Formats: sequence, structure tokens, C-alpha cells
Amino acid sequence: MEMEDLIKKFKEYSTQDTTLLELAWNFSKEAHAQQKRASDDLYFTHCQAVADILAGFRMDQETIAAGLLHDVLEDTKITPDSIKKDFGPEICDLVQGVTKIETLKFSSRDVAQAENWRRMLLATAKDIRVIVIKLADRLHNMRTLNFLTREKQLEISHETISLYAPLSQRLGMFQIKSELEDLSFKYMHPDEFNSLSAKVQLRFAKREKLLEDFKAVLETQLAPTQIPHRILARAKNLFSIYRKMEKQEKPFEDIQDALGVRIITDTVVNCYALLGMVHSVFKPLAGSFTDYIAVPKMNLYRSLHTTVMAPSGELVEIQIRTDEMHHTSEYGIAAHWRYKMGEGGKDAHLNEKLNWLRQWMEWLQDLSSPREFIESFKTDLELDQIFIFTPKGEVKPLPMNATPIDFAYLIHSDIGDTCIGAKVNNKMVRLDHELKSGDICEILTRRNSAPKKDWLGIVKTAGARSHIRKYLREHGQPLE
Ligand code: MN
Repeated sequence: MEMEDLIKKFKEYSTQDTTLLELAWNFSKEAHAQQKRASDDLYFTHCQAVADILAGFRMDQETIAAGLLHDVLEDTKITPDSIKKDFGPEICDLVQGVTKIETLKFSSRDVAQAENWRRMLLATAKDIRVIVIKLADRLHNMRTLNFLTREKQLEISHETISLYAPLSQRLGMFQIKSELEDLSFKYMHPDEFNSLSAKVQLRFAKREKLLEDFKAVLETQLAPTQIPHRILARAKNLFSIYRKMEKQEKPFEDIQDALGVRIITDTVVNCYALLGMVHSVFKPLAGSFTDYIAVPKMNLYRSLHTTVMAPSGELVEIQIRTDEMHHTSEYGIAAHWRYKMGEGGKDAHLNEKLNWLRQWMEWLQDLSSPREFIESFKTDLELDQIFIFTPKGEVKPLPMNATPIDFAYLIHSDIGDTCIGAKVNNKMVRLDHELKSGDICEILTRRNSAPKKDWLGIVKTAGARSHIRKYLREHGQPLE
């Protein structure tokens, strides 16, 4: 890839001036000079590749320039001052942010990693672009992992699958998440990867006919409506199938894996119009419809989901979304960053969307042990969410198996602290009751009541846990 190719790719989505980008290209090339990678390629090829991935996410010039420069502080004699002088404080901060993460050496598998990760995430709260650069860096390292020793491959894959893939998922960056998972899977379990990959391809080929028939029926119905649409078959992430096999202890042949189809259109109104159309042609499976447009997931994901029966009797999982939702679902937070840049200033809407991230960071600061951090990180990461209603009809998202105490703290920390009981669908329940999606939950409080230590064993969210700990600590109750 030449500099002209990168500039061309950038200009396809941005009108920003590219002086800094060109400067960064030459600066990095010169700084890394004759350094080589394990593949024997020039080190600079890695910087180019990272910049290319970032341009693929449609990031702003500053991020891509920082991507080009991301390794100069660690691997060359260049100082932060000289970056600041040539590129300004913004790019310098980004490069230093990435370097800070890079230089934290992960010694042991668990505790040290978690602690490093906590620092890394806290650093991100300041600028999410640091994480996006780091993910692009990791993606390219995973793509070129074959040049490293077996031991290194295993170490890096393990770290990728346990920390970086969940992080991309949390940030709504599903495309990277899938690729990171599948690449890690390939190095961690090469035999399983190869055999599964062959089987999935075979199944996909067999299904081509089903997909064609399904598309044909749908197209006939859609043609007269003139609603713009694209119908895409959805490729399944190999690792998620493998995880399902492990979890259900079943061979591939016994894993229920419906054909996945996406319909992409222009507006929200047309999403619902298409949904109506689909349901009028194919019989929907009861209870399969979920509206993530009206109630988006915490990671910004929006789409309509439904499962219908094809004429052949096979089940087809359908996702209906707009182009913008599609971009967001692939690139998550990175996609939203672009909108902010496009508007050239502060975007209140974006801030609101990222609020959960900030809130989450605050909770993390409160957790005392790295072990606890990792636990809460994993719990809150679960994609399976339930939606609980307040008596006034507001919807609140919670992780699976959440309790009324989690719900109380989600509404307000004072409600959580003074909670003495709860009614679910008008019936009194215990505080360790497991909430189910669609429940209406009412919290009963009493002034001067206080959180109990044993609540820590009941709650499922990091938010509730951190508030309880904070209260106990401030009121002189030892935690251990
Ligand atoms: Mn790097």
C-alpha cells in the first residue's frame, strides 16, 4: 500500500485536509527505517496496515495519523515532545495513550492482566479513539500471528479471546470481534478450527438453494412496494458455533443453526414496513420478535429481529435494519465517533449514548481487586439482556438473572440504598428474585434503611455492587 492509496480511501468519506496524514506517513516510515517484523517485512508495513484498518472504520485524520505513529515512542528514539511539536497535542495524546497500553507487560495470566486492563480502560474514558487504535493494532497482529513461535501464538490468542474480543463486543464493534475470535480459535484449537470450518462451508453450500428460494419469494412481494432493500446472507462466526457446541455438549450436526438473513433499507419506517411484509408472507415463530430499534442494546446496537418459517419448513432468522444501523453494528463506537467529527463539534446525542461507558468506568474505579474487575467485566459484557419496566412504563436494560436490587440501583443509588422489598407484576418477591424480561418491577423503600453486606452475594451488576461497597465502606463496615 502506498500513501496515495490511503489518502484515496480517506477522501472517500472525509473532506478533512490530509497534511498531517502525509506528514505522519513519512515521519513513521523514517523513524522505523530498517526495523523488521518477525515476518521479515519492514516494520513500517505494520503501521501502514493499522492506518488502513482505521480508514476502513472511517476514522478521522488524527486517529489515522496516530495509527501510523502508534509504535514510534516504544520502538524508536522519537520523544513525545517531538511528536507534539510536529503534530500537535491531540495526536501526541493519542500516541501516548496507545504506547501506555503497549508498554504494560502482561506477566501473569489473570491478576496482572486485569489490573493492566483496568488502567487501559480508564485511559480510554478520556479518548475512545485510543482503544480503537489499539484494536486495529491487535487485529493486524492477529492477522500476522503465523510468523511467531507457537508459545507466543498461544499467549497472544489467549489474551485476544479473553480480553480484546469481549472489549470489541462491548464497544459494539462486531466485525472485529468476530475476526479476533476466529483468529484466536484458529491458533488455540487448530484441529477443531479446520474441521469446523470445512463443515460450515459444506452446510452453507447446501443452503444456497434455500436462500435463493427465500429471496425469490420475498423479492416478488417487495418489488411492487418500491421500498429500497438489500438482502444479504449472514456468515456465522465459527467460534460462536464452537462455543455453542461446547456449551450444549453436542456435535456440529446436532447444533440448531438457522439460516441468517439481513434486510437492509433506508429508513426506520421502512424497517417496520419490511417487517410487516415479511410476516405477511412467512409464518413468524411465536416469541421470536425483538425490537432493538425501539429499545437499543447498551452497546448501541439497533435492528428488528424475527424468526420465520420458510416454505421448506426450515427456520430463517431475519434482521431488518437501516444502512446507518448496519454500519453501527459492524463498527460500533468507531462509527459514532465519525458522526461526531462530521459535525465538527460536541454532539450531545453521542454523549448520551456513551454515558453508559463513562458510568461503567466510574464503577470500575471503585472495584478493589482485579479479580472482581474481571468478573464484573465479564458479567456486564453478556449480550443477553432483559428489559424490565418501571411502574411508570419506562424500560431499563439489565443482564440476565438480575435481581430487584440491581434494578433499584439502576434507577437511583438512593433507591438502591434504602430498598427493603420489591413487587414484581404486583406480587411481593424476595430481593434475590430473578427478574425476567417484560416484568414490571416496583421497589419498596424505607427512609434510613441501609444496604446489607449479603447483598453483595446477590447482585449481578457492577453498578449495584460498587454502590453497596461504597456505602458499607463509608459507614465503617469492613468488607472482608
Ligand atoms: Mn503495533
